[in-house]
Amino acid sequence: MSSNDYTIKEAIAEAKRCLHCKVPACKKGCPISNDIPDWIAELAKGNFGNALQIINGRSNLPAVCGRVCAHEKQCEGNCVLGKKGEHINIGKLERFIADFDSATRMTPVMIPQKGRGKIAVIGSGPAGLTIAGDLSRQGFSVEIFEMESEPGGVLMYGIPEYRLPKDVVRTEIKKIEKLGVRFHLNTVVGENLTIDDLFAQGFDAIFMGTGTGVPNRLDIPGLNHQGVRQAIRFLRRVSLYENGNISREEVIVGDGDKVFVVGCGNTGIDAARTALRMGSSEVTVVYHKDMEQMSALKSEYEEALSEGVRFLWNTEIVRIEAENDEKLKSIILNINGEVKELPADHIVMAIGSAPAARIVSTTKGIDVDEKGYVLTRENPYGMTTRKGVFAGGDVTNRPATVVHAMRDAKNVAEGIARYVDAVRLIETINSETVSHE
Ligand code: SF4
Repeated sequence: MSSNDYTIKEAIAEAKRCLHCKVPACKKGCPISNDIPDWIAELAKGNFGNALQIINGRSNLPAVCGRVCAHEKQCEGNCVLGKKGEHINIGKLERFIADFDSATRMTPVMIPQKGRGKIAVIGSGPAGLTIAGDLSRQGFSVEIFEMESEPGGVLMYGIPEYRLPKDVVRTEIKKIEKLGVRFHLNTVVGENLTIDDLFAQGFDAIFMGTGTGVPNRLDIPGLNHQGVRQAIRFLRRVSLYENGNISREEVIVGDGDKVFVVGCGNTGIDAARTALRMGSSEVTVVYHKDMEQMSALKSEYEEALSEGVRFLWNTEIVRIEAENDEKLKSIILNINGEVKELPADHIVMAIGSAPAARIVSTTKGIDVDEKGYVLTRENPYGMTTRKGVFAGGDVTNRPATVVHAMRDAKNVAEGIARYVDAVRLIETINSETVSHE
């Protein structure tokens, strides 16, 4: 337990402050419509197991949401008590409930009967885990195919340890596994096997929750020098190093280095704060617009600022210089119209990412837009142009937050359930008609 966590007494006292509003604004502010006042009421009575079961009705990842959601913009930002500056600390309470359950394992796990159909889920980030948890609870047999050696996707390899400890992610995934979900790790769909192979194995529907793994590129001179790296790859390397999978040298950003991060979304801030933690002496975030237009959360920005990260607003990157075309030397910036050359050891690009084409290039009939995002339909929600293949989360919607990927996946889970039920019903009717003939 960290000093930032509630004790039982503190959590109950905080829960007792809730007014149980008739029209709860907190719930409206939550992208997945978490039944916040209901579980807070159970928490206030000390019924932690009931509280978790209510949360699980909407979320398979409460320990994650309790840590990384933008509560200030969502539930807490809407709580009526916030008008007096005293909103209920909903995120911290959600985290308390999830962590209490993990520590005590008091909540019984109900493993649902699996007879409704067989679903393959590709990718085990927030979208894939949500689909797996929701459909498994509804009686579907779910198998997840994950390219990495550990499940979790961006939760495991993207969001840094200081914001989301990996053991918290592992515990949440174990709970999903206990619902009967099977994991196939180190398995790359599009390389080791294809969508058609999965259908041949008898899956009724397939979900693509593969996210956006290909970094966007700027067209500037010097981008191919050593010392220029992509934020998502840098964060992945740090995660692998922290898990003991690679050596410190392979992280590359070292002690005393001067680091520039280009881009000011949450990934940019994560990369900047991680570079500091890896011992960099100076970390500067470069953003081509002003502060009001950054997509990073204000709270994340403020944390970064307090840790010593510098920010250059209205600043364009002009080119990158290296010594003998090898070791990086400097970054040339246009800062508010003035061109300056600043010494740099590493430049981390955090200007967004797009989907990989691995699956769509090995599967007939899955259409994408001009940027590679998978096209889906409204009915059944989330189905691609290939029958029985669904997609959701960042691979269809462009990169968004964890909870927005979860929201989309919840809707796709409903679409998959309706589709599989309908197909199976038609098959049953057809087989009965044949046997009566
Ligand atoms: Fe409780 Fe605030 Fe939600 Fe009202 S808006 S039900 S006070 S958490």
